[in-house]
Formats: sequence, structure tokens, C-alpha cells
Amino acid sequence: QAKQQAGAAAVTFQPGMSAGASGLLEIEQALAAAIENEEFQLDYQPKFAAGTRHLAGFEALVRWQRPGQGRVSPADFIPAAERTGQIVALGVLILRQAIGHLRAWQQQGLAVRPVAVNVSPLQFEDLGFADWLVALVHAHGLAPELVEVEITETAAMTHMERVLPQLARLREAGMGVAFDDFGTGQSSLTLLRRLPITTLKLDRSMVDPLPEPSAGAVVRAACVVAEALGLTIVAEGVETEEQAAEVERLGCTHLQGWLLGRPLRVEAAEALLTPASLKV
Ligand code: C2E
Ligand code: MG
Ligand code: MG
Ligand code: MG
Repeated sequence: QAKQQAGAAAVTFQPGMSAGASGLLEIEQALAAAIENEEFQLDYQPKFAAGTRHLAGFEALVRWQRPGQGRVSPADFIPAAERTGQIVALGVLILRQAIGHLRAWQQQGLAVRPVAVNVSPLQFEDLGFADWLVALVHAHGLAPELVEVEITETAAMTHMERVLPQLARLREAGMGVAFDDFGTGQSSLTLLRRLPITTLKLDRSMVDPLPEPSAGAVVRAACVVAEALGLTIVAEGVETEEQAAEVERLGCTHLQGWLLGRPLRVEAAEALLTPASLKV
């Protein structure tokens, strides 16, 4: 490790530090090559309407098809890509791929459903990001309603100045905006009223303890607020029928989770879309 550090400015050693630093350099180089070679794939996890449980849309979830190492989970490289700033270039690949899939589905005459794409606050550092995305959607001939952006509540609130005006731009253009991992951050109810969003995604940590009554009370409160503000509210991480029935009873409008659908390869997601002409 010390050798790999040679040449870098004098760094005071701290336990675990040299491994961390060289580890970051290593992943930075690997990510640079992966972005260059476009080694990323999107899986699509279905979302369902509460009650009818009809397919309502998908969330795109990135995976790194790393040569010789299989598919790497986003939890293992998104944080690194954020630290190095490479998330910006990666984010472009992800959005292009999701929009490309939507376009292909539409051209095949399938009954397309909205796709939500996760974005990092760093992507909004470029103040032209929202305009770029709107133009990309238009250039592909897609209705803007088919594309939704997910940003974590925490990320949006800690980068408010740059993020909120651009979310407003996406809204104005007709795109959906979801607050991800809702309930883990600290946006006030006052602020929520003024945010340019269309959807709250209730974090799995609020769904997990159901049907425990105190957890149910919190979920119910979030659903009441969402309904009053005209927002849809998605329960994430629904793993049991008991949780599904409970979030439906408490007023969530949509469900997502392993019970109803794991993240799927693009071909499997496509297979869930019936031809538009057969739609009843
Ligand atoms: P997230 O946006 O909150 O996505 C939900 C995560 O929960 C996904 O993990 C999904 O596979 C997992 N999940 C879904 N249903 C269940 C369930 O019933 N039980 C459990 N235990 N887990 C469930 P994944 O795919 O590993 O993604 C993790 C996180 O990585 C995402 O959290 C998101 O923050 C980030 N991420 C994923 N794709 C992208 C991307 O394209 N761009 C950016 N910036 N971040 C991404
Ligand atoms: Mg998400
Ligand atoms: Mg989430
Ligand atoms: Mg989450």
C-alpha cells in the first residue's frame, strides 16, 4: 500500500487510510474504463398500483457488468462515483440508456409505462442538466410524463439551491419528480408543500416494521400529507403480503418490492408490457 502511495504528497498515516485511498484510486481507474466501455446495464423493478396491483411503471436500477467479476451492485460503486465526480458521466449513460429503452418499447408498439431514474445531486451541479434532460426526452419523441427522476430527500435538501429550480424545470416540462427514501431525511412539512415534486417514495425502513401499529401510524400520516398535496406515494421494499395489504389500507397509491417484483433484466421487463392495441 505504501508503495502505491509513493509520489502522492506526504499523507499522515491513519488506521485503514492507505487501503482506503488506494482503493479509491483503483476504483476510479476501473470506473473510468467502465464508463469508456459502457459496462453498465439497467435492471427494471416494476411498481404496481395499490388495490388493482396493475403494472404502473418501473424504476431503473444500474448494475455494473464488470469483466471477470459479474454484476456489481450500485451500493458498491455509486458512492465511489460520487466521490470522484464520475457519477456525472455515468449519469449521462444511465439516462441515455433508460430513454433508449423507452423509445424502443414505444417503437415496438408496447403499452409503455413511466420509468423512474435515480439521479445524484452532483448531476445538478451543471445548471444546464434539467434543460439537457428535457431536450433528450423530446429528441427521442417521448411524452415527458414517461420519464421520472428520483432524488433522495436528503440529497435534494442538502443541495437545495441548485436542485430545486431544476426539479421545477423538469416539472414544468411535464416530467415526474420523486423524493426517494422519504422519511429518512428531514424536510419539514412546511417545505414539502412548496417542493416541485409529484411522488413520495416511502423508505423501506418505514415499510419493514409493518403491521406494527406505531409504524402504521407514521405511514398513515405520510399518506395523508401526500394525498392533501396531490402527490402519489410509493411504498418501497414491500416483501410480504401482510405489508402489502397494510400499505394499501393506510393509503399508499403504489407498491414496489420483492413480493410483487424483483428488479428484472430489460427483456423480462419488456415482457410485462402488453401491446398497446391489446390494452383493455
Ligand atoms: P433506491 O433508489 O432506494 O432503490 C431501491 C433499492 O432497494 C434497490 O437496490 C432495490 O433492488 C432494492 N429493493 C427493492 N425492493 C426490495 C425489497 O422488497 N426488499 C429489499 N430488501 N430491497 C429491495 P439496488 O438496486 O441495490 O440500488 C441501491 C441504491 O443504489 C438505490 O436505492 C439508489 O439509491 C442507488 N442507485 C441505483 N441505481 C442508480 C442509478 O442509476 N443512479 C444513481 N445515482 N443511483 C442509483
Ligand atoms: Mg430510487
Ligand atoms: Mg428508494
Ligand atoms: Mg431506498
